[in-house]
Amino acid sequence: MATLASLHRRIAEIMPDIAGLATEISLAIHSHPELSLHEFRAAELLKDTLENEGLQVESPLAGLATGFRAVSGDGSHPIVAYLLEYDALPEIGHACGHNLIAAGGLAAAIALHRLGPDRPGTVWVVGTPGEEADGGKITELEAGVFDTVDAALMFHPGDRTVPFRHATALIDLFVQFHGVSAHAAGSPQQGRNALAAMIQFFVAIDGLRQHIPETARIHGIIRHGGAAPNVVPDFTEAHFLVRALTAEAVKALLIRVKQCAEGAAMASGTTVSFEDRPLYAERKNNHALANRVADYLREAGEVVQEPLLRGGTGSSDIGNVSLRIPTIHPYLGIVPEGTPGHSHAMRDAAGSPGAQHKMLRMASALAHAGVDFLGDPGFRDEVVEEFRISGADLPV
Ligand SMILES: [Zn+2]
Ligand SMILES: [Zn+2]
Repeated sequence: MATLASLHRRIAEIMPDIAGLATEISLAIHSHPELSLHEFRAAELLKDTLENEGLQVESPLAGLATGFRAVSGDGSHPIVAYLLEYDALPEIGHACGHNLIAAGGLAAAIALHRLGPDRPGTVWVVGTPGEEADGGKITELEAGVFDTVDAALMFHPGDRTVPFRHATALIDLFVQFHGVSAHAAGSPQQGRNALAAMIQFFVAIDGLRQHIPETARIHGIIRHGGAAPNVVPDFTEAHFLVRALTAEAVKALLIRVKQCAEGAAMASGTTVSFEDRPLYAERKNNHALANRVADYLREAGEVVQEPLLRGGTGSSDIGNVSLRIPTIHPYLGIVPEGTPGHSHAMRDAAGSPGAQHKMLRMASALAHAGVDFLGDPGFRDEVVEEFRISGADLPV
């Protein structure tokens, strides 16, 4: 078996050979944004590339048409999994930069694959679709996809490079009011107004906001508000996101949000129904592994800031994975500090040459950290022991 040092040397030699391919894939995905669970072109491109490299590809995965797993190695432990996201946002496109996540994770895994039989352990590439709306990782997790994985690695573009940050737990809630339609002028007394219920619901949520933890967030939109002003609306629907520090706190808050809707239904003589999606959990970053990636990033010239454990955050289904196995989710700065995510600026940056260059830098750091995890038992023990004794990262 090759020494650790020689594996690192070879990674450094291999990475430049992959740069063109990874950049091409990143830009191809960026220029054809596809929505959550509909990332067919992106998934095909990633799977074809992995197959061409000689990895064994399995798809669909956990019942997800755009999910997949590719395996390099004989299946022996340790197993590291590089997680790829490739979904975009409605209307604005790749404003979360998932094209960089996909191509960067792919490049890191291909580099480890090209080490050949000298490399210990097994490398997986897991295509995890639907991060923005449907929690593909949660579906995969619940189907047992990650049961035998020893560590999960991915990164996310952002406005600064940090080894880790906290993330809130979140649930998607759809609230539907059902009323009775009637002529809004001729016979309003026969109607029961589902829009009146919706307005009451929003007012009640505004009242609730005053009395929830300051770390919680409740925000929503009306998806259906009625069909015509002269028809009493018999159906309205809102889509809300309910966030709090932990999954348990979200569950508690969700009860109160639903009570607001039930009260509004009662007041308006309508009925209410709910649909929710999988709950995105809080994040437990593995600091040992994340800091190792940060070390390699610094060596490559990246300015890495201190971990961020305060301020508003998003939420991701990586949280659920991170509570089950050692996981990292560092951020790579591709826009000036303070630039919001899900913005036009973020979208344009995700397709820029500068971001591709940074993505390759991150891919290399993830590959080197993967080599350490696979080939250095002492480091692996440190990662595993931290996972055993630590909890999720919460804001300070
Ligand atoms: Zn994202
Ligand atoms: Zn996003």
